[in-house]
Amino acid sequence: MPKLQFQKRRIWFPPFLFLISIICGAQAPLPEPVTDQETELGQAVYNELRDKGEIIKSSPLYETLKPIAEAISRVAQSRYPHPFKFFLVHENQPNAFATPGGNVYVTDTLLYFVKNTEELAGTLCHEVSHTIHRDATNRMQEQRKTEMRELGAAILLGPTLAQAIAIAMIGDLHSLAYSRDVESSADITGSDICAAAGYNPWGLVWLFEDFQNADPKQIPQLLSDHPANGTRIQTLKKHFRENPAIFAKFNPDPKSAIPFRVPQDAPEQFLRPQGH
Ligand SMILES: [Zn+2]
Repeated sequence: MPKLQFQKRRIWFPPFLFLISIICGAQAPLPEPVTDQETELGQAVYNELRDKGEIIKSSPLYETLKPIAEAISRVAQSRYPHPFKFFLVHENQPNAFATPGGNVYVTDTLLYFVKNTEELAGTLCHEVSHTIHRDATNRMQEQRKTEMRELGAAILLGPTLAQAIAIAMIGDLHSLAYSRDVESSADITGSDICAAAGYNPWGLVWLFEDFQNADPKQIPQLLSDHPANGTRIQTLKKHFRENPAIFAKFNPDPKSAIPFRVPQDAPEQFLRPQGH
């Protein structure tokens, strides 16, 4: 009898899953297997965020994020050896951050904060550029010379060291202290990627300009750090002027933006901690 029931369940399981996916919306991507130090660090950060219950497993918000993330990946992927994967996380601050290994984390709050598609695309292009430039790894090398000497010596770090670095990295990514040059460099590469992906690269400029009028508590940390937004705007505008073949066709007026529609109060299901 139990066997029969099991078979019956197996028959019904796929349609049931299908139904769940309709009700709950699109799913988080599956993490990339660990093959080197970058994917290992990426996996360790993923594990930490998952165990804190922050990673959104399924939500209609993924359907909003997905087409933009895919268009950006199509352009950016040739510049980085591991697949870019975009995860939604629940945090009260509008924010986005990238880790080695290709994972990009986008807070649900950011989706509600941006005013148009170009502002979100600009933010994602900026984060992907940090990964292409290997900014997180470079910064860890500066800050943690001892661990990184071990990093250089070992192909894989082992669970303890990888986890320790991951915890420190999450703290760093949230407190964010990239230099102005590193930020501007990610802005510029990001604007190239956005332009190639068909998103108006003025989106990032509009986002910076929005912040000047926003409640300081609401300003995403990724953009509210030391590098003055004004300087970053000037650097971007100079880049646009110097490369008219790429940028002249884009309209600097935010009124030309593509409206961004995000489902209000979208349900969110979370990945659950796994024992380790
Ligand atoms: Zn940045």
